[in-house]
Amino acid sequence: MQLSSYFVDLHIHIGRDHANRPVKITGATSLTLSNVLKEADEKKGLDMVGVIDCHVPAVQAEIQELIDTKQALSLSDGGIRFKQVTLILGSEIEIYDENCKGPIHVLCFFPTLESISTFTAWLKERMTNINLSSQRYYGSAKDLQYKVKELSGLFIPAHIFTPFKSLYGKGVERSLREVLDDSLIDAVELGLSSDTYMVEGIDELHPYTFLTNSDAHSLGKMAREYQEVLMETPSFKELYYAIHQVEGRKVVRNFGMNPRLGKYYHTVCKNCLHPAPKNESCSNCGSLKRINGVKERIDTLKTNENTRERPVYIHQVPLDFIPSLGPKTYTKLLTAFGTEMNIIHRVSKEELEVIVPAKLADMIITNRNGELQIAAGGGGKYGKVITGESDSSE
Ligand SMILES: [Zn+2]
Ligand SMILES: [Zn+2]
Repeated sequence: MQLSSYFVDLHIHIGRDHANRPVKITGATSLTLSNVLKEADEKKGLDMVGVIDCHVPAVQAEIQELIDTKQALSLSDGGIRFKQVTLILGSEIEIYDENCKGPIHVLCFFPTLESISTFTAWLKERMTNINLSSQRYYGSAKDLQYKVKELSGLFIPAHIFTPFKSLYGKGVERSLREVLDDSLIDAVELGLSSDTYMVEGIDELHPYTFLTNSDAHSLGKMAREYQEVLMETPSFKELYYAIHQVEGRKVVRNFGMNPRLGKYYHTVCKNCLHPAPKNESCSNCGSLKRINGVKERIDTLKTNENTRERPVYIHQVPLDFIPSLGPKTYTKLLTAFGTEMNIIHRVSKEELEVIVPAKLADMIITNRNGELQIAAGGGGKYGKVITGESDSSE
């Protein structure tokens, strides 16, 4: 058995169905299923994408159409192959039963079009509008887990550390076991505001593989976070094996933005937004009021110092975050090297230098190695990449 590396992003939304009706209302109109598959194949260079609005009947019809016209193939081990990309059929759902104390998003993935349409038939009876994204499900969280497992699916709490609609969201103190059957969770998704190192020490998460996905609401945002997964071939069954580390299959590396780039990383003074510790007056204005940062909130969830061995988490920024890498340069790079994954991971510094200035080539390699310097954000202000020199612009 030969295992290979694949780049995987499992949280991509659909903006519009094939009749141009809204699915994710806030999603881009160009974010259709066909465009997601094309973007993954032609520009991003992703090997596997999880589209989490596949519970929508019109999206299922679009997939069936791709299969009927031989543009896509239903794989015997689960998943749908389109050119070089494997589509994993998923659904993001909002749960809020009497144990939840607040809304929580979860991701459910299914092996086949048949299994997800069976799921849709069940879900339709428990949801106000089956045609939209991330809708509230009216039923118990555990019953949802049982249904997903009955259909041989994967159950994954979504973006668990974001302030809103997440398992460890702000203002609610809850344990995973209060809400869910912990034996029926396959993995957890970290979300954009955290990384592996920040969240180690939360005991109840030790059994689960960490996933890092983009939660893309537009084509460009796909693969802003993703993972490298060791599998025999990209299929649903192999993904399942990788998440459960069966015979060498596994997540090898997680890639995501440095949480310090996030808008709410640092605790800051509520009055002047200057970084400031708790219970001490702000060194800038003297105020004692604070906006709590994400890091501080996660620290309060930690129960011990124990860590388990985890895949390395590489801090990367999407290419368009790199100072001086504007749209023209991006197009030049893509024309030369094919896909973003080639640019980010595969081409050498020498090859890059043929296309872009040495300083930018250098920064692309620094980003590849997770070594770009970041100034932390906080209080609603984004962090940013530090260049050391003034940026050249195009
Ligand atoms: Zn969500
Ligand atoms: Zn989402």
